[in-house]
Amino acid sequence: MARINLKNISKSYDQKCVLNNINMIIEEGTFTVLLGPSGSGKTTLLHGIAGIVNFDSGEIHFNEQLMNHISIDKRNAVLVDQNLLLFPHMNVKDNIAFGLKMRKVNKIEIERKVDELLKLLELNGHENKYPNELSGGQMQRVAIARALAIGVEVLLLDEPFSKLDIVLRKNMQEFVRNLQQTLKVTILMVTHDQEEALSIADKVALLMNGEIKQYDTPHCIYEKPISKEVADFFGVRNYIKGNIINGNFSTDIGIFKTKVLNQQNITFMFRPEEIEIVSEQGPYITGVVTKRIYSGDKIVYTIKVQHTELVVSSFTYKDYQVGDDVTLTLLFDNAVYF
Ligand code: ADP
Ligand code: MG
Repeated sequence: MARINLKNISKSYDQKCVLNNINMIIEEGTFTVLLGPSGSGKTTLLHGIAGIVNFDSGEIHFNEQLMNHISIDKRNAVLVDQNLLLFPHMNVKDNIAFGLKMRKVNKIEIERKVDELLKLLELNGHENKYPNELSGGQMQRVAIARALAIGVEVLLLDEPFSKLDIVLRKNMQEFVRNLQQTLKVTILMVTHDQEEALSIADKVALLMNGEIKQYDTPHCIYEKPISKEVADFFGVRNYIKGNIINGNFSTDIGIFKTKVLNQQNITFMFRPEEIEIVSEQGPYITGVVTKRIYSGDKIVYTIKVQHTELVVSSFTYKDYQVGDDVTLTLLFDNAVYF
């Protein structure tokens, strides 16, 4: 098991800065997800840790050991990405055993290890198949088994599930999560899918424009974003500006009761689920539904309150239509302000 420590990592391509002074510690035996939009530098960072690319500056440590000049094959870190480089002419068993054979491990030990991995990766019954006879999910599992066979301490997964259909993707996410908890291997996984990141990770690092914008638990990064930039990455947000005086939050769209202490020029962020449509009339603000999107588990409304449009998601059975007048209240309990 290894703890990964990245110190002042920078990398440019053709004078374009791709990674800008990254500092990050990935604790041993944790599942960390590197999340970010396409082109933000995720793969570059992962490849640098694996030893496939060299960073321009900075240090990579696995535990206390400096890895910068250690070659790929001696890093004990394996990269699994969408380009599953399984050997097409070898069956599943031989693919898994390959690294062990190269290391001249004895035959009995190879048999034992491969059997153990076939079981662990739920590949029993497929051991004699060739890669072209496997599903996408099975190929993923063979690639992971092959990495685990050689006893890696760090598993680097680059958008491993992005080519799988939604059902298979969910299965693989759960599978890899359970595997990680069984083996306690350190996993750093790249994804651009926020839902995948939040559901699978111990910690999420949000990488944007070559910088880690927030590195936190899924709960904190989603509920307590440290900036508007981070908040916006996780979906549509409502920002309401105003002043709080004696429990009244006065804004352009009305006055709301809050327990937050007096403050001038404050901007509150409300996620769509933190604005509620209420049935009672009273000391609430009113608006008009201008858009309604049904999405199965919820309905997302755009509601115009004077000149401001608010996005509100509703989980109740009460259905409103475009043109309806609605009464709104803000849920301040967890609301973040900047
Ligand atoms: P991500 O994985 O987040 O989509 P990448 O790390 O692949 O992002 O790429 C980050 C940026 O670096 C992109 O603008 C990409 O074009 C550039 N880049 C990546 N690899 C190379 C390379 N070998 N040569 C030149 N530019 C590169
Ligand atoms: Mg990438």
